[in-house]
Amino acid sequence: MAGRIPENLLEDILGRVDIVEIISSYIPLKKAGANFKANCPFHHEKTASFMVSPDRQIYHCFGCGESGNAFKFLMRHERMEFPEAVESLAKKCGVILPQEDRPEAAQAASLNNQLYKINELAVSFYETNLYGAGGKTALHYLAGRGINPETIKNFRLGLASPAWDGLINFLRSKNASLAHMEQAGLILPKKSGGYYDRFRERVIFPIADMRGRFIGFGARVMDNSLPKYINSPETPVYTKGRNLFGFNLSKDFIRDADCAVIVEGQLDFMIPFQEGLKNIVASQGTALTQDQIKLLKRYTRNIVMIYDGDTAGETATLRSLDMLIEEGLNVKVVPLPAGTDPDALVRKAGVATLKEKVENAESFFDYKLKVLRGRHQMKDPHGKAKIASEMLATINKFEDAILRGEYTRKLSDQMQIPEQDIAEELHKLKPAVSQEAKQPAPQAAKPAPINPAEKLLIKFMLEERDLVEKIMQQLSPSDFADARTVKIVEVMRRLTLEGKSISPSVLMNYFSEEDATALVCETMFMPELSEEGREKAVHDCIARIKVQRLRSRREHLHIQIKSAQSLGDETKLNSLIQEFHNLIKKGD
Ligand SMILES: [Zn+2]
Repeated sequence: MAGRIPENLLEDILGRVDIVEIISSYIPLKKAGANFKANCPFHHEKTASFMVSPDRQIYHCFGCGESGNAFKFLMRHERMEFPEAVESLAKKCGVILPQEDRPEAAQAASLNNQLYKINELAVSFYETNLYGAGGKTALHYLAGRGINPETIKNFRLGLASPAWDGLINFLRSKNASLAHMEQAGLILPKKSGGYYDRFRERVIFPIADMRGRFIGFGARVMDNSLPKYINSPETPVYTKGRNLFGFNLSKDFIRDADCAVIVEGQLDFMIPFQEGLKNIVASQGTALTQDQIKLLKRYTRNIVMIYDGDTAGETATLRSLDMLIEEGLNVKVVPLPAGTDPDALVRKAGVATLKEKVENAESFFDYKLKVLRGRHQMKDPHGKAKIASEMLATINKFEDAILRGEYTRKLSDQMQIPEQDIAEELHKLKPAVSQEAKQPAPQAAKPAPINPAEKLLIKFMLEERDLVEKIMQQLSPSDFADARTVKIVEVMRRLTLEGKSISPSVLMNYFSEEDATALVCETMFMPELSEEGREKAVHDCIARIKVQRLRSRREHLHIQIKSAQSLGDETKLNSLIQEFHNLIKKGD
């Protein structure tokens, strides 16, 4: 995880910043004994199980297991990459990072920064145009679309003039290079040489990322000419399907409401948002992507989809439903009449109507069944089979067997198909899914429990550096039974030998494994023991780990002996039995 940034610098930064100060700039922290606690920003909860330790400079959530140091918090909460998080904290505490140590990362970061800067300049250029002499028609157009002046300012809407080189000339005057303008997707090369502005004579809708940096643009004509929309191409800072339009403005509302309303277009976002439906985002494309769902999942598990009332909207909704269910989200749908979208609905019927529709959104089940009934004939046996199998494909996405059972019964009921037949069809679907996607998931979610003695020893070693050497004289890392504890102990031993810090917040810079980090944090929030209590506990833990180790070796040998017996391999059998006796002698 440390990458090319020197470890001592990471340590230096962690030593200078205060995790309590950093986290409390995002969420309110309450004092709880020696620690601070809060409602976890990474999962939805009603009682606080998110702990921050000022002594250890770490955080840990006992609800969802999310944990780490100050870097990790920024990576998770602000979705920064590791180098970005390091850079941000380095800046905060005045540590200077050597650029030459990571030329590629630095180059990429500096290119991205250039593009953000150019986009920001372009936003201000288009914005100035809108309020300038040529902006009357555009302002009139925007007002006609129901966008009020305040929203125009908030979203920094703008205008691209008819000129072919308006933006180029402006950016040049700000010393931007043509290469960067092209990489930002703002200009295009002419066949005859030179460049021209990509967006002309259009209203400009800047697209911001989650942190409010401008990454791209949507540009719409003000009449009925085609194409209606032109968007930025993919650039180093803008990948379609990676971000959600408006999320930078609505994410806190989504977290508070514990529900996200998902719409398709920018105006479908802007108008309801302006009118007071704030927990909303736009996917800016047809179907949702995996990246977008992962982004949303950090804020809520409840989704209401409102896509356009046309076939494309319907198909995109159906596809998104399956993906959302697969990610374990609860999803409902607001169907709109053909030819309507959320923007038009709010302007026609008011935001209260849309809110009411969100309140009464249909279950995925009712929605999908209705759509399928419109597409296939229930009376025709083949049509009926088609409907049932498509419904089952979605029901099958539920991880929870009880939910699958409930929906199967519901399907049997509503379609008047015997439950047995439905169960048989579902059974046919089952293996494909459970083998590929589902099996690794529960494993990842529920790792085997760790011997408490191993956890405690790690805690003691982290608290008292001298113990590392003492304990390592009696145990080797491989005596630990769990892959996570082995990893932690190995790193601790190495750092101690090298005379380096093993404070928990520093230690976790050496793990790329999430669960090793979580384990370190968890042990740090375990109750403290008195001096004597600890001494005895260390002794007991070592003894218990040794016993455990002997037992598992004995069991292993036992299996080998049995297999040698059944193979009739006398030589091997004798040597194994000898080994077994030695082991028993040692153990007792
Ligand atoms: Zn949590």
